Amino acid sequence: MTLNRFSAYIKKNLSSRRLVIVSSREPYVHKQTKSGIKVEVPAGGLTSAMDDVLKLTGGIWVAWGSGSADKETVTDDRVLVPPGDPAYTLKRVWLSSTEVNNYYHGYSNQVLWPLCHMALDRVYYRKKFWDNYIKVNRIFARSVLEEVNHDTIVWIHDYQLCLVPKFIRERKSGLTLAHFWHIPWPNWGVFRVHPQPRKIIEGLLSNDLIGFQIPFFAKNFLECIHECFGTDAEIDYKHSTVTYRGHTTTLHAFPISIDYEKFNSTAVLKKTDSAIKNIKNRYKIVGHTGIGVDRLEYTKALLKRLQAIELFFEKYERFIGRFTFIQIAVPTRTKEPYLSYKKSVEALIGKINEKFSTGYWSPIIYIDKKVEQKDLIAYYKMADVGIISSINDGMNLVAKEYVACRSDEQGVLILSELAGAAEELEGAILVNPYNIEDFAQSIQKALNMADTEKALRMEHMRRQVSENDIYKWIADILKSMTQVSKQKQKKCRYLFDHIENIQNNLAGKSLLLCLDYVGTLSPIVATPDIAYLGADVQALLLQLKKVVRLAIVSGRQIEDIKGLVGIKDIIYVGNHGAEIWDGEKIAVSQHLSADKLLLNEFQIRLQNALCGLPQILIEDKGATLSVHFRNLKIRELAAFLIVFEETAKDFKDVFRITSGKKVFEVRPKELWNKGDAINWMRKKIAPDDYIIYVGDDTTDEDAFGVIKSTGMPISIGCMPEADYYLKSQGEIKAFLELILLINTPVPLP
Ligand code: UDP
Repeated sequence: MTLNRFSAYIKKNLSSRRLVIVSSREPYVHKQTKSGIKVEVPAGGLTSAMDDVLKLTGGIWVAWGSGSADKETVTDDRVLVPPGDPAYTLKRVWLSSTEVNNYYHGYSNQVLWPLCHMALDRVYYRKKFWDNYIKVNRIFARSVLEEVNHDTIVWIHDYQLCLVPKFIRERKSGLTLAHFWHIPWPNWGVFRVHPQPRKIIEGLLSNDLIGFQIPFFAKNFLECIHECFGTDAEIDYKHSTVTYRGHTTTLHAFPISIDYEKFNSTAVLKKTDSAIKNIKNRYKIVGHTGIGVDRLEYTKALLKRLQAIELFFEKYERFIGRFTFIQIAVPTRTKEPYLSYKKSVEALIGKINEKFSTGYWSPIIYIDKKVEQKDLIAYYKMADVGIISSINDGMNLVAKEYVACRSDEQGVLILSELAGAAEELEGAILVNPYNIEDFAQSIQKALNMADTEKALRMEHMRRQVSENDIYKWIADILKSMTQVSKQKQKKCRYLFDHIENIQNNLAGKSLLLCLDYVGTLSPIVATPDIAYLGADVQALLLQLKKVVRLAIVSGRQIEDIKGLVGIKDIIYVGNHGAEIWDGEKIAVSQHLSADKLLLNEFQIRLQNALCGLPQILIEDKGATLSVHFRNLKIRELAAFLIVFEETAKDFKDVFRITSGKKVFEVRPKELWNKGDAINWMRKKIAPDDYIIYVGDDTTDEDAFGVIKSTGMPISIGCMPEADYYLKSQGEIKAFLELILLINTPVPLP
């Protein structure tokens, strides 16, 4: 996506919305220098691309004011940026040095960072870190809350701000909140080491949208939710959503990228070739070169890379004097354990240089300071091989930058398979950085690769990066944000915030109260046969049936649901609408014999295909089937979904297959659904009644649809088709009490 197309897209889709970006680090830092105040723009594609967005839309960026002259340059905590050509507001929050030490250097960088990168022995937790993390997240949330109106979209960045969404949501429940998680998310086996796993995940689940770098991290996040919250959080694996305490969060992978065109076009300029000449002269380089560009960060595994280079020279001696590796290592977080890590890296470089250097040549050139991005391009274009060795990395932009600079379609990328970029850059030589032998051999392979193979691989990667650049990344995220935001605006309201409205609406009306069973009247349980009705709910239903017309609407067979509820003289709907007991007799019973044969065939084929997954329960309900996968381990889920979809595709013309809460419902298309059953009741039994329908699952949406403008659809957890929602099944009792109260005649004085 070019910048022009991106600008047009943003103007069209976002110009009327107010955008607030929240990140720990700021896009412009004012610093005190000997020659006065200077503005620094931190390097990195992300900051500059987000800066481009706000330049187009206006809006606010809330960040920690970390520069030595930041306070002097604000009015009321705000400064207009970019300096000299103001387009949006940078709002700074102020943190004391204790807060910075504990929230940033402590909790963020010594707990969350190593944990998410699976460097467990580096996790160092102190209670004061956590206390300050909460405090600082509150400061950020408060600052954001001062800037929002009902239409604002808030885009939060990264692991330093996990609790901000929760603190914002507590005060402004209707706001659209999105969060991008830049680093990896580990599986539960790792994340459970975290001292507050629930608190961190709960904070993030206040977002409407969470973006991860790759689907694998989103899957790990779901696994952590499943293990941490059990049935308290409803996970819809098919749509990748989580409903927790009545709020639904969508998860999605958005692999971050670079400004491809900027790198590509600069790389072909003459001045880049002159810069390459200068570098070669300065370092007296002859022969092949390799490049590594990293922050001096242990997750980048510089030690592993250096060990591989050492082994490479040992094994392939003919490259001594003929291959020079340049390592640019930018100091980062200049505290422990980084200081020790720097020492180890430098010691190993010293050892390798001593071991292999000749009088005129050294194997490794070490540049231990930041090189401006524009100057990096020459290094990328010069190097025959780019090496990335991360032991865990959200994405790794250097990999993409190297590719973008190679319009000559030469150069080989050696990329750790443990970096997010490995998912996309198929033309790279993938290495496991722990396998030093293989790593060393890959360097040799890269240097000996034929030009045609290099070109093929590079062309493939360049296409991938150019088609998926940073602007496309932002546009995709903003598109998803506006989608969830639109859905939210349509969405229902929390019922207990509108009791007065409901009372007024129902006053004097005769009611048909329709209640779904599992997930509405009874909690969701591991297997359907133990979904009992609580005695308290049953007692309420017995009282209610005296003042309203009651219908229990279920996916189960009619006899089954009648037995479970155990109340006479009320209406029962079974098999998702295909069977109706009108209070005295079976009034509707649809059984389509041809479909039944096919249903049996579907069941047998599925059973055979799933023989390795005994946790799947296939419930034969006569006219329909339910395939329950609640008890499946998350790692078995992908295999199950593949088998299910493979089998289902042969029956898609006959059956309507919907996914509910860890269940697939398989119903003949001709069969009545819950909406049809409601229509029948409205016609045959209760033409003058006002219909309330309470349900929690996708099959209830048919019923919501038919009463949308004439009755009151209510969902458990917010569903877009409902007018009101209850936060959880646990609130059904209070709801039934409310209906009872509204319909209990007030005794005359
Ligand atoms: N970078 C830079 N100068 C340097 C070293 C790195 O501008 O001397 C930039 C590099 O171009 C890249 C970013 O820093 O855009 C590093 O991003 P990456 O995703 O590779 O790693 P991160 O540091 O974000 O973990």
